[in-house]
Amino acid sequence: MENVHDGDRSAPSVPLGPGPVAQPLFTDVDAPDYDNVLACIRCGLCLSVCPTYNTDHLEVQSPRGRVALIRAVDEGRLSPDSPGFKQHMYHCLDCRACQTICPSGVKVGELVVAARAEIDKREPQPWLERFLKRVVLRWVLMRPERVELAMAPVRFYQRIGLQRLVRASKLLGKLPGRLNVLGFMEELLPRLPGRPLRQDLMEVTPARGERRYRVGFFLGCVMNVVYAEASRSTVNVLIENGCEVVTPKAQRCCGAPHAAEGDTRTLRELARHNVDLFENWDLDYVVSDCAACAAQTKEYAHLLRDEPEYRVRAIAFSRKVREITELLAEIPLKQPRGEMPVRVTYHEACHLCHAQGVKRQPRKVINQIPGIEFVEMKESDWCCGSAGIYNLTHPDRATEILDRKLQNVAATEADVVLTGNPGCLLQLEAGVKRTGIKTRVLHPTQLLDAAYRAEPRPAAESPRPSS
Ligand code: SF4
Ligand code: SF4
Repeated sequence: MENVHDGDRSAPSVPLGPGPVAQPLFTDVDAPDYDNVLACIRCGLCLSVCPTYNTDHLEVQSPRGRVALIRAVDEGRLSPDSPGFKQHMYHCLDCRACQTICPSGVKVGELVVAARAEIDKREPQPWLERFLKRVVLRWVLMRPERVELAMAPVRFYQRIGLQRLVRASKLLGKLPGRLNVLGFMEELLPRLPGRPLRQDLMEVTPARGERRYRVGFFLGCVMNVVYAEASRSTVNVLIENGCEVVTPKAQRCCGAPHAAEGDTRTLRELARHNVDLFENWDLDYVVSDCAACAAQTKEYAHLLRDEPEYRVRAIAFSRKVREITELLAEIPLKQPRGEMPVRVTYHEACHLCHAQGVKRQPRKVINQIPGIEFVEMKESDWCCGSAGIYNLTHPDRATEILDRKLQNVAATEADVVLTGNPGCLLQLEAGVKRTGIKTRVLHPTQLLDAAYRAEPRPAAESPRPSS
């Protein structure tokens, strides 16, 4: 216990200690997997890709350090109630960059999330935190209409001009202590659409032309209420590509926020509901334009593996899930005819490139848009600092990580940065606004949709055949 440091940047050691024990401390079905913890060979390859290690240069802020801490707790050499343990588990972004590079298959991000669930179970949280978590996770996010209702006052706040006044007064930036989170929330808040997309979309949107596929659209909570325009583009792109789009109105949150907070009971409830619901339609695919939703719904098979009633059905469901660019690259994409004369770069959402291993497909799809000039961004798979609600719980750290990303965006001199996750869209939009970078932040389907709608350029005059 003594050799663990509570974020002290001058004391970088971690407890490695003696070997395995007969009975690990964490034994719950959702606890960190002890065998996976033991798989760490301490090679240190993961250090180079970890945003928190590269910000602090401390072993305890590295994937290897976090695995060592979990092991020390599991083996009874460190108290799970140690403030240092808790702090280092919550400093992780769960970006999973370490999992992509690890030669031993150590799932550090997943181990950390499981450790958080153990911490939450043991430690009585302040009543306000407990109450807010319950209201948001177990009430608001349980039904899409409640999420929509919760955002209605925000829309009103924007429409009556109060947001402009609050921003001009810089009042929220002056709030003391933990209330300063309101300032960060306000900075992140884009202008909301007039209506959530779910209220406008038909349950079945027919394909344009001949139907090639029938796809279920998993409309994420944030995409529905914040990025309705982007998800509308996703539906347009799908129907343009011969897909009949089924958007079941009763679908619920994928459970990603619950997974991040260690609420596996509610997560399973949501997973069962969504499996039941989508099963009612005879679908070729289930598609999502939110990287986090696609990653989470692909994990339903693993999540429900011990439930006899759901085991096989959850596997069938998860096998059908595709992130939108993954699907478009697979079916394959109908070539757009309109030209988009813009310089484009691409930011990889962690939940897409690290959690799902989807890297090639978005680039393939983007590069099929006529007229674009694609430029790769340095460290395109480096987290932007959004990481669920990390930018609200750790605003200073998140801003430091975002600034590195923004430097790389600026260096591309791109007109547009594309990214396929609402958290990244929010974070990058707030970042470019704050720093004055002249780059628009869009979802890939928005540019693709625009290319389908644009008029094709008149064909150039063919050269005369020489006689
Ligand atoms: S790369 Fe994997 S095996 Fe190597 S130190 Fe990191 S977690 Fe351990
Ligand atoms: S998930 Fe990300 S932040 Fe956490 S240890 Fe791995 S690389 Fe570091």
